[in-house]
Amino acid sequence: MDSRAGSARRVTVSPRTMLALFVGKLAAVMTRSLGKGGGTSLPGLLATRVQPHLVRELASQLQRGTIVVSGTNGKTTTSRMLASILTEAGVSVLRNASGSNLTRGVASALIARFDLWGTIRSEVSTFGLFEVDEAALPEVVELVQPSKLLLNNLFRDQLDRYGEVAMVARLWSKAIARLPAAAIVIANADDPLVAEVAVNNSECPLYFGISSVPDKGSTGEHASDVKTCPRCGGPIEYTLVTLGHLGHYRCSNCEFVRPEPVVCAENVRLRGIDGSDFTLAAGDVSASVHFPLPGLYNVYNALAAAAAATALGIDMSQIATALGNATAAFGRMERLEVDGHTVYLALAKNPAGLNEVMRTILQSSEKANLLMLLNDNTADGHDVSWIWDADVEMLAGHTGQVAFSGTRAPDMALRFKYAEVSDERGGKSRIELNTEAGLVHALAGLGAGEVLFVVPTYTAMLDVRGVLTRLGHVNPYWEE
Ligand SMILES: [Zn+2]
Repeated sequence: MDSRAGSARRVTVSPRTMLALFVGKLAAVMTRSLGKGGGTSLPGLLATRVQPHLVRELASQLQRGTIVVSGTNGKTTTSRMLASILTEAGVSVLRNASGSNLTRGVASALIARFDLWGTIRSEVSTFGLFEVDEAALPEVVELVQPSKLLLNNLFRDQLDRYGEVAMVARLWSKAIARLPAAAIVIANADDPLVAEVAVNNSECPLYFGISSVPDKGSTGEHASDVKTCPRCGGPIEYTLVTLGHLGHYRCSNCEFVRPEPVVCAENVRLRGIDGSDFTLAAGDVSASVHFPLPGLYNVYNALAAAAAATALGIDMSQIATALGNATAAFGRMERLEVDGHTVYLALAKNPAGLNEVMRTILQSSEKANLLMLLNDNTADGHDVSWIWDADVEMLAGHTGQVAFSGTRAPDMALRFKYAEVSDERGGKSRIELNTEAGLVHALAGLGAGEVLFVVPTYTAMLDVRGVLTRLGHVNPYWEE
């Protein structure tokens, strides 16, 4: 018999919260049974209408504390890596689903793990790990009251939704002001916008950064968002540019300078699409990481996860081992086998992200076969002009088959035309608005054993995943 039998169930929440939990759970069951997705958003939306304090009430019961992860790029990959580090260290993790990164997504994740009486279903103490949209950060921080806040990077993204990056920086300052007094801010020292927000608003931020990349020059890029000092507006000078506006910088007019990071990646050596090798160091402790995800952007994600794990007291060698076993999050240079071809799904939703994806593709393939998927739905941003800020020119002379799909496929085709990137198979680049037709044609055009890179925006990635799920090549995203 259950040891709790005979004693009354301990009710920890108000009747209104119990009603909200009931509504949320019902919505989750119904969305799943109707095949409308994983119930990662609607349950939270409905339940928080019944009880606006639901997130606050449930999150306060997470005994190990919570972390909120934000940044323009890499939220999902970072959260995923941090979750595996913690899980391997024996910590129970409660996470929101990738893409459901507004308050309703956080609420949905909590509802799924609490029972109707407001008690968490876990034998061991649980840590909350929530990835949160940049614009939703002040609201979620206010509700969750996290013990840690991780700020990874701030790139231009979805301009029509967020306006300038400076506006997001102001939102983040507001979020930091709402943190509990003892909370730790973990920030990317290599991003001047993030560093300026952290240094101005937090007592003692924990910084992470890349110390050295032996093969990297110091040239700036097209997609650089910051040319002036975020403090005084003077010119910023770089001694190392890692990607976009990230690197080792100093203002030539005022005292603003890259803060010295505590958690570092030293001697980063990229191995193309196979990943990179680096030394993870914090103070006197270091460990070698044989990291399987490609690109410097993923090294930053690994560092962000490592810094958070360090702040939680996890051993460095344990962190290094977990990072060595990292796998790509869905759609993040994710490798699939489809009809005898290797297909990589590489989400790109802003100039910096697209540049990194293109650079990784160039390192891995002589003549890359590409299917570019551009949508302009709300979650992508209605303004697709960002594609003109990406360095598409770098692909010229390095492509095999090139095809375009998605609601704004002709815009991307025009961008490629101006970059003089063409289908070097001799044919005309195919433009196909329908995602399924675009994918089927792209696959049919491949030679035996050839690789296809599918580069979608956010909703286009959900579309292409949907097609691949129907064709039986991948699992639905909520089963990840
Ligand atoms: Zn300055």
